[in-house]
Amino acid sequence: MNLTLYITEDCDLDCVYCTQKKKPAVMSEEVLRRACELAFSDGGSAGLCFFGGEPLLCEDMIFEAMDICGLLSEKYGKPVYYRMTTNGTLLTERMLERAAAEGMEIALSFDGLMQDICRKYRSGRGTFADVEAAAKRLLAVLPASTAMMTAAPQAVGRFAASVRYLYDIGFQRIHAVPAYGSKVQWVPSAQEILAGQMAEAADFYKKCLLDGDPFYFSPIETKIRSLLSGINVNDRCHLGFSQMPVATDGNIYACNQFMGDADYCLGNVYDGIFVRKCATLAFRRKLPLSCQSCSFKSRCLNSCGCLNRLETGREDTVSPFQCSYEKMLIHLADETAADLRTADTTGFESYFGH
Ligand code: SF4
Ligand code: SF4
Repeated sequence: MNLTLYITEDCDLDCVYCTQKKKPAVMSEEVLRRACELAFSDGGSAGLCFFGGEPLLCEDMIFEAMDICGLLSEKYGKPVYYRMTTNGTLLTERMLERAAAEGMEIALSFDGLMQDICRKYRSGRGTFADVEAAAKRLLAVLPASTAMMTAAPQAVGRFAASVRYLYDIGFQRIHAVPAYGSKVQWVPSAQEILAGQMAEAADFYKKCLLDGDPFYFSPIETKIRSLLSGINVNDRCHLGFSQMPVATDGNIYACNQFMGDADYCLGNVYDGIFVRKCATLAFRRKLPLSCQSCSFKSRCLNSCGCLNRLETGREDTVSPFQCSYEKMLIHLADETAADLRTADTTGFESYFGH
């Protein structure tokens, strides 16, 4: 079973778009041990994603979880996989060595040249210099690591340059999303800049692919793959299905945005998962009414309950910003795919497998 562990709900940063309700809560050793046992309880492999807040505030607990899971893995003869999302400010050599030894995937939250505008220490100081240094150390040890970019309206004019920067320092995987939630306002002029910057980034993605040095750029690549396969690879919603977050108190929720909401509490590390409640929630998931006749409905993030809740307060309602962003991305990805296919049909088919 895959679980996301909120080792701590605290963080050393104060990012302008943060949606986390930060508090100085830390998972107890007992909750941690029970969560590890629960991850192995369905008889399959176990997967733990260390998350927060900033998980590296509690680095020792991550080591402890890996020690416990190592023993459980031997006991049950099942593999265990680890992932971590970190802001990078506390990334130690000790952690990097252990991550490499355990095959942990690390995703670094790094906005590139937008970093100092949006991702700051609590003192207000920018984090660019520290996170750039951490990124270089990370890539030296784990070159397949992912950069997780968030574009906020106040920095979006630097988005394309940031994609190029992250590629230039060695990231082969760049995951990018716009900032969501009540702290950001995507006014029409900012959305226009976002569209222009995304087009510039898509051109760069195209050029790298044609030059034989491709990189994974999530906004465009997922939409191209959904065009080719007919499968919505962008559909990340797992509300009530998998990868459920475990809060510091041991309660298990449907997804990140629902933490602390009793209606979406789907179990705890002591009693396990409440299967009937999961099924009820999963069956509730449906295409929003406003999307039913849209030709993009199978390529859009419209049914991500977590994202919808963040944007509109309702799991079944897509925000106007999200709708226009999805349309812009799909058009751009389709143009990019057509250009790539025309320029090099064999290379295109070999890269995308179609
Ligand atoms: S690093 Fe993450 S949790 Fe911490 S303030 Fe920034 S967005 Fe929030
Ligand atoms: S593009 Fe808009 S209307 Fe179409 S499926 Fe997506 S959210 Fe719904």
